[in-house]
Amino acid sequence: MSDFVIHKGQRPAGGFARHYGAATEQVTFSPSKPTKVMLADGREGQGSCLGCGNAPCMEKHPSELALAGELEAYPGDPSLDVCPTQVITWDAASSAATVDANACIGCGLCVARCPYGAISLQAGRTAAIATGDPDGLVVAKGGQAEHPKPTRTGTLAKLNAPAAAAIPETVGSLPDAKSVLLVRNLLHEIGMNARVRRRGDTNMRIDAVGYARSNRPFVAEIELSNAVIENPRALLEDVAILHARYGYVVADIDPVSIILSLPNLRSEYYQVIRDIENVLGVRCRTVTVGAMVALLWTCSRLDGFEGDAFIIGAGGADLAANLGMHEGVLHEPYPGAFRPAK
Ligand code: SF4
Ligand code: SF4
Repeated sequence: MSDFVIHKGQRPAGGFARHYGAATEQVTFSPSKPTKVMLADGREGQGSCLGCGNAPCMEKHPSELALAGELEAYPGDPSLDVCPTQVITWDAASSAATVDANACIGCGLCVARCPYGAISLQAGRTAAIATGDPDGLVVAKGGQAEHPKPTRTGTLAKLNAPAAAAIPETVGSLPDAKSVLLVRNLLHEIGMNARVRRRGDTNMRIDAVGYARSNRPFVAEIELSNAVIENPRALLEDVAILHARYGYVVADIDPVSIILSLPNLRSEYYQVIRDIENVLGVRCRTVTVGAMVALLWTCSRLDGFEGDAFIIGAGGADLAANLGMHEGVLHEPYPGAFRPAK
């Protein structure tokens, strides 16, 4: 059972332990600095944990797992956990969320989701939840309210910060179910409506399905080891299933290979992708975990897989061009995140 379920009964049901007294309009992230908020009444300063009963840093709303149209029948993983390693818990003594820094992998998911700017990615390594209130923003006790939807700006951490550089090791050390949850939750936060296969479900072959913001359906194969060569071929099977069982037109489906690192240029991976496009007209896209983390950390969103987005081939394999970030921000987190590893 996940920590948020274990501790849920202690949290203020539907309300807050504390309140700013005004909605959060903007959350601003800066590398190595506490996250700041701007409130609807004009006050601004460092964010602080308000002790949400329904805590977006820990728990997804069930509507986030809903899929429109025929894909709603896809039997995905129902987990509502935000943290793939389940290291955020409720601290009853302080009525606030807390993170076990020893087990946090620094993915940034909880940081990006807190609507009150209470979480920072400390030193680009692990999440830290602020409970102090140095700028005196907390003015009210408790209360009931809907979570605001602030705009988010800035950068959680430099893209080559320690947590990003360590992604190959940290993801590699996660059990399969947790690494897939990481991928699903990253997809959600960068704007994709996604559901992933429950690990161990032998009746379902497709690893993930969903819709881009443009409402085009996608199918995805998730392979976070080096054995990525099967992904393009498996995607063909996925497209066939989505067409035959869910009624989507093949040309309207985007097949996406989600991997940890781009293989080196000699890999047959690129050739297979090219062959599939040349012979069958199916364009497989490739996205790395590092690219998704880069989008999350820079508060960027992915519209979808239109045109040449995330199309790679031998000689032209560079995801940086698809990320829409300026050069000052665009550090490759680890070899293979944006460009083929040497
Ligand atoms: S960290 Fe943010 S989302 Fe989580 S309980 Fe505190 S205020 Fe709420
Ligand atoms: S940064 Fe990621 S691993 Fe760390 S507590 Fe937040 S969601 Fe969990």
